[in-house]
Amino acid sequence: MHPENDPRYTGLAVNAGVAQPPSVNPYLKPRRRQPLPSAAELVEGILKGDVTQLARAVTLVESVAPAHQAIAREVIEKCLPHSGRSRRIGITGVPGAGKSTSIDVFGLHVLRNGGKLAVLAIDPSSERSKGSILGDKTRMEKLSTHPSAFIRPSPSAGSLGGVARKTRETIVLCEAAGYDTVFVETVGVGQSETAVHSMVDFFLLIQLAGTGDELQGIKRGIMEMADGIVINKADGDNIDRARLAQAQFRSALHLFPTPPSGWSPEVLTYSGYYELGIPEVWDMIDRYFTFVKENGYFESRRHEQARYWMYETIDAELRHRFYDNPDRALRIADCERRVLANTLSPFAAATLLLNS
Ligand code: GDP
Repeated sequence: MHPENDPRYTGLAVNAGVAQPPSVNPYLKPRRRQPLPSAAELVEGILKGDVTQLARAVTLVESVAPAHQAIAREVIEKCLPHSGRSRRIGITGVPGAGKSTSIDVFGLHVLRNGGKLAVLAIDPSSERSKGSILGDKTRMEKLSTHPSAFIRPSPSAGSLGGVARKTRETIVLCEAAGYDTVFVETVGVGQSETAVHSMVDFFLLIQLAGTGDELQGIKRGIMEMADGIVINKADGDNIDRARLAQAQFRSALHLFPTPPSGWSPEVLTYSGYYELGIPEVWDMIDRYFTFVKENGYFESRRHEQARYWMYETIDAELRHRFYDNPDRALRIADCERRVLANTLSPFAAATLLLNS
């Protein structure tokens, strides 16, 4: 017999408890969902700079529910005439390059002269990790408590294209709410740079000085997109290595053709953590904006981007309409079987399905 079941057992025993009441709080009403806000209400709030309404509208933009999307579309259309007046700056770098540290100090630097800053992110990996690693408030300690900063993590649902489109739409809402500087952050490891590049005016690449071969491992395409390359962590023992990296990047950039902006990308060193060289980085960005506004590239790049997003959205919508059909899904499966059995060519199958 187990000792605890012995009647002479005097150790710990479980007393009979008090019966659980039917409800912890009988007066508690079941939580009702907040009614959906109207587009007019949201737009009014956004134009007044109301952060709560802005955040609610962004949530609708990110939602996949058709009812939410309908409101979001209306809000975006109504905000569009009030948008476009910000400096949109893309910031990329591999994890650990110091993006959050840098965005924190860059942001404070920008806000020192007044104005409002929105920090958005495109993080295609969040789908897998079920949660955004970018734009996280805790990563930008100083900015997150600043009254003029609006920080929003990456929308997490869907494909890179979908995530990027939502970020792009969020820019419109932020601008309508009076944010005159917008940072769009992305991890510098994949294709998200192309997406960011298609929505910003200036693309900043954060690099680290390393072992002397830092140029390896960066995709040529990313370097070609950069309007400025900044080498972070130029502090302490690292200063000389950062300078060396700077020289290497400069000479590497010479090999590239002059970009369509006519602006030769600059390479600077700084330290986000020790806040060294920050005004110089910002001075470069200021000079860039003056340069491209004078030569007309600023306008033409924005036009190009608007066109890109129109076709991008058409592509996505066509694909969606094609695949999102149960009948067609069956037909696709059938065609796939025949293609694999070699009784139908892939081309004939595609034509058949597209014409169905
Ligand atoms: P992220 O992953 O690109 O957002 O990088 P973080 O901003 O989180 O920085 C990664 C690590 O580098 C952290 O431990 C930072 O403290 C450190 N770090 C960031 N900037 C600097 C810098 O300017 N100098 C030094 N020495 N360390 C830095």
